[in-house]
Order: sequence, then C-alpha cells, then structure tokens
Amino acid sequence: MTESESIAYDVVVLGAGPVGENVADRARAAGLSTAIVESELIGGECSYWACMPSKALLRPVLARADARRVPGLSQAVQGPLDVGAVLAHRDYFTSNWKDDGQVQWLDGIGADIYRGHGRLAGPRKVTVEGPDGERHVLTARHAVAVSTGTRAVVPDLPGIAEVKPWTSREATSAHAVPGRLVVVGGGVVGVEMATAWQAFGSKVTVLVRGKGLLPRMEPFAGEMVAEALTEAGADVRTGTSVEAVTREGTTVVVTTSAGDRIEADEILFATGRAPRTDDLGLETVGLEPGSWLSVDDSCRVTGSDWLYAVGDVNHRALLTHQGKYQARIAGAAIAARAAGVPLLETDPWGAHAATADHAAVPQVVFTDPEAASVGLSLAEAEQAGHRVRAVDVDLSSVAGAGLYGEGYRGRARMIVDLDTETLRGVTFVGPGVGEMLHSATIAVAGEVPVSRLWHAVPAYPTLSEVWLRLLEAYRDA
Ligand SMILES: Cc1cc2nc3c(=O)[nH]c(=O)nc-3n(C[C@H](O)[C@H](O)[C@H](O)COP(=O)(O)OP(=O)(O)OC[C@H]3O[C@@H](n4cnc5c(N)ncnc54)[C@H](O)[C@@H]3O)c2cc1C
Repeated sequence: MTESESIAYDVVVLGAGPVGENVADRARAAGLSTAIVESELIGGECSYWACMPSKALLRPVLARADARRVPGLSQAVQGPLDVGAVLAHRDYFTSNWKDDGQVQWLDGIGADIYRGHGRLAGPRKVTVEGPDGERHVLTARHAVAVSTGTRAVVPDLPGIAEVKPWTSREATSAHAVPGRLVVVGGGVVGVEMATAWQAFGSKVTVLVRGKGLLPRMEPFAGEMVAEALTEAGADVRTGTSVEAVTREGTTVVVTTSAGDRIEADEILFATGRAPRTDDLGLETVGLEPGSWLSVDDSCRVTGSDWLYAVGDVNHRALLTHQGKYQARIAGAAIAARAAGVPLLETDPWGAHAATADHAAVPQVVFTDPEAASVGLSLAEAEQAGHRVRAVDVDLSSVAGAGLYGEGYRGRARMIVDLDTETLRGVTFVGPGVGEMLHSATIAVAGEVPVSRLWHAVPAYPTLSEVWLRLLEAYRDA
C-alpha cells in the first residue's frame, strides 16, 4: 500500500450520496476547497437502489391504476404491464448503475473526488483506502461532513445468510419477477415494493409485526393502503413476525409467529435501516462506532466544532429532500463559520438552522392510493402536548375527485393547533395526492393561520378543493 502526503482542504465530505454531493456543492459555492470521498457509486443509495429505481418501478403501476378508473379509458388499459419495458426504464433511470454523469457534475463544481473507503483518523483528519491500494490522507481546515447514509437491517435469524434474502437493494434492482414474494415489514419500503412486485405478477405476502401498515402515519393511511394491496391480490398479515426462514432448494420457507408456513421464491426484509458508521473511525474522535450521529440544527455533531453529520446518518429524517435541505443548511453554516461570520443574526432566512426537521417534514408514499403527509399526526401532536383538533374530510366528496374516475377513494386530515390556529400536520390519502402535498407543507412550515388559508382559493375542479372542505369543517364545527 502506498500513502500520499497529507493533502489539506477546507472541507472534506465523507459519502457522495445526494446529501454529500449537496454539502460539497454549498461548500464550493462559498469558495471553500472541497474533497469528497465515495466507496461505491457517486449519487448514493437514492440514485441506484432507493428513490430513483423504486419510483421508476412504481410510476407505470400507479399510472395504469389511475387510467383503469377513468371511464372511456379503462377498457384500453386492462392488459398486463410490459414488465420488461418497466425494468428497462428503471435501468435507464439508474444510468445502468454507472455514475459518470454525477462524476461530471462534481467535476463541474470543482470538488475533488477520492474513490475508496473513508475513515476518520483523529480530529479533522480522514484517510481513504482506494481500490488501487493507494492510501490518501486528507486534512480539513474547517469541517469534515459525514454523509455516509444507512444500510438495510436484516434480522439475525438462524440460517438467514443461506436464504440470501432481498433487501431494498435487490428489490429495486432485480431483473426477474419472483413467482412468490414475501415482504417482511409494513413501512414505506415494504408497502412500495409490495405494490410494485404484486403488479409485476408476483404473488406477494406482506408480514407486519405491528397492528397495521405505515405506522408513522395517521392510521387511516395504512388501513387504506392495506385494503388496496389486498384488493390487488396481496396477502397482508398484521401482528405476524418471522420466526424462522430456510431455503429448501430454490424455495424459501418462512415460519411465522402465528405458526404458518409460507413458501416463496424470494423474501424481502424491509425491516429498518442502520447508520453506516461502524467502520468510520468514530472511535478516534471519541464517538461510538455504529451509532447515529446526533447533531444540532446546523448539523454539527454534538460536542464538536468541526465535525458535521448530514442526511440519513443523523437520523433526523431519512428522506432525500430533507437530507438535501440539511446539506444546504450545513454548507451555509460551515461557510459562515469559516468566514468567522455569526450565524443566525446575519441571516434573515434562518438558513443556518434546519428547523423544518422538527415541524414540517413532508413524505409521499407512492402506493395506490398514494399516502402523503407533512408535520405531525394526531397521535404525535397529542403526545407532544399540543392542544389540537383533527378535521377529517372524505376526498371523494370533492368535485375534482370525480374526474379521477369512478369509485375514487381518499381521505384528508388536518391537525389544527387550537392555541395558534395554525396547522401542526396534514395527511392526504388517495390517487394523485402526492402532488398536492406541497400546499400543506407551505401551510405547516409557514405557520399560516387558518383564517388566511381561507383566502387561498383552490382552483375548480381540482382535488385541492379539499382545502375548502377541511376549513369549512373546522370553522363550522
Ligand atoms: C427503497 C427506498 C426507497 C426510497 N425512496 C425515497 C423517496 O422516494 N424519496 C425520498 O426522499 N427518500 C427515499 N428514500 C430514502 C433515501 O434513499 C435516503 O434518505 C437518501 O438516500 C439519503 O441520502 P444520504 O446522502 O444521506 O445517504 P446515501 O444515499 O445512503 O449515500 C451515502 C453514500 O455514502 C457512501 N459511503 C458510506 N460509507 C462510506 C465510507 N466509509 N467512505 C466513503 N463513502 C461511504 C455510500 O456508498 C453512499 O454512496 C428511499 C429509501 C429506500 C431504501
């Protein structure tokens, strides 16, 4: 192994997922010299095994479901999906798991790329073990930003390794449709992948330990998604966990806590994420290897004046858009501190504090129906001690829903804070609601009083008219 002389940068970013790339972008925009270290593909989980491929898989599924509800169109779309074409489009969306485009982008902003596994080696020092056996030593004058993301957690069941289970990586990149697929977990990844593979022809069984699907959302979201998955032919079993799993020949045999034996061709564990911090040299700076990195609102690690943790790895909100928001914040904070400029006092936008992480995180689940939420659910708001009222409206009562076709099913809920008369949270469930979510995000993040929302007139006949119904229901109650 050869070792380079230590090279000094203003900022060293560990991990070139969407978040690391954006930290580098903000640092470069502020004129700071920046190195970015990546052990796999530049673009991270999101581009190759998460957001992009999963949404490319789901788009035709949802478009077909929407089309099948529209009179005059439904007859034309009764046939099966062209799964080969869907998978090919997914491959195109992931650039065939090549990162040339993203390398070009990083080159364009003037960040230096180091390929290899990065580790902290004491304060402000990073070593990179490259694939060529070369070892680089980088020092950071102002900041090291850790954006190493997460990996899938697979439960430690006996014999699990021999089963070769799918994680989100295989579920988003597979090139053949398993005849039978068991999906373990009813969170976002579980329900999205169950929706996709059921539509591609797999017979899907979903096993959920808890009471229902999508446990972080309003309960009706999980109920409506479970109902639709069942109607699509999936077998959704709640209150059921996996006790044992083996592979007999090519068949996966699952024994459940209910004593059932389920046979499948593949099993997907969508059972949570763990931070990629176990082999990061955290012990060299007094932190616990394998831990989530806790940060303040500028994404600076608690107790440090040079180490930042941005994106999934800080466990604030495991979503690309939220991580990129944090990257803009952290980049601005690093630049301001490097220039010796006081943070919050100098910026009327509050751009050095990721306050939205606490109150206004939006998320869309791309199932049929879609589930979209921002802010707190009723249970979360009550738990946090807010005095709130939940207002519910059946989305099918809105004129715009009729245009989506017969039998539109959907529901909306807003959580009104009774002390401030602003919104703590909003949830929409129904076809097409994902694109409506930003109106709710603006209302929640902007702390817009309901009396002002009354003057935000939704266009007729759109689904957005649900806002009128929600406000009327609140005012007239
Ligand atoms: C199936 C699935 C679907 C999803 N869909 C959505 C969605 O639709 N919308 C959404 O907002 N979010 C979605 N997410 C979440 C989203 O993927 C993550 O929030 C996002 O990828 C986090 O970005 P990140 O940059 O923090 O981490 P990552 O994207 O995980 O990137 C981290 C990078 O760091 C690199 N790395 C790790 N350790 C080292 C090291 N020691 N040295 C060098 N490099 C290292 C990794 O190789 C990786 O490239 C989805 C997740 C999954 C699993």
